[in-house]
Amino acid sequence: MQKSAFRALKTDNQAAKSAQWLSISKTNENAARQRLMENEEAEARAQMEDEEMKEEIYTIPVMDAFNESEGCPFCAMQAKLEKESVEYCLGPSYMEDDIRMETDKFGFCQKHYEELLKEQNRLGLALIISTHLKRISSFLADAPVAKKAKGFFSKSSDPLEPLKEVLDQASEGCFICSRVGGTFLRYAETFLYMWPKTQELRGKFEKSPLCLKHFAMLVKLGSKEMPQQAWEQFYPALAEVQSHQLQRLEADLDLFIKKFDYRYRDAPVGDSRDAVPRAIKILAGCNPDEI
Ligand SMILES: [Zn+2]
Ligand SMILES: [Zn+2]
Repeated sequence: MQKSAFRALKTDNQAAKSAQWLSISKTNENAARQRLMENEEAEARAQMEDEEMKEEIYTIPVMDAFNESEGCPFCAMQAKLEKESVEYCLGPSYMEDDIRMETDKFGFCQKHYEELLKEQNRLGLALIISTHLKRISSFLADAPVAKKAKGFFSKSSDPLEPLKEVLDQASEGCFICSRVGGTFLRYAETFLYMWPKTQELRGKFEKSPLCLKHFAMLVKLGSKEMPQQAWEQFYPALAEVQSHQLQRLEADLDLFIKKFDYRYRDAPVGDSRDAVPRAIKILAGCNPDEI
């Protein structure tokens, strides 16, 4: 009897403890759920802020180029990125291992070597070039005596494959071109994203002389990436801006040519005086400050 009372008491105690535990665990569970929700909200907020910040990183330079450039705004964005990259290469970055690995592998194209030469850091440039050359030399030294690979399918066993890859990287690659290329593409995508939403940008765009290279880029990228409805609004505006510009240029060039004919000696010069350099800027996409 006593035993059963004790058992009953024990069972009651256990039940009470279980209930208590359940209640504590429920409270903990609620608190944990609350914390999780708070964390998720904070994460979503941080992600939104991060997205907004990322968006600003790209929208500001795009808007600046349309506000400040008198020539093709995309040429201006590219020139600014290239200038920053040249300075970056010869700043403290050339001492960083991961950057040096890239410049050792790719070196630079002719245009960017020339830009690097203009900077006041010959020692930095000498160090970069020195390790780049050493990498090529080491692959050259390790390469076996050249034998022609046999047959069409034996490419994988070509003993010169590692050297060929190194030579491709060094002769065709450029650290600055690759670095600029990625950011520039984001600028172009940001422009296409902003165009339907930003009246100010559309107004500036209508007055901007686009070079042929960047006109072609917008046709290709816009037709691929813009939503159908936005593209159907954007393409006619783009085509009209470009046609109008080319027609004006043709008329100015015609007048420039005519002025060499004595019969037109007294005709008004109009805007024909700088028609040739202007045409080159449009056709070749030069940096507007270079001509
Ligand atoms: Zn351009
Ligand atoms: Zn380059």
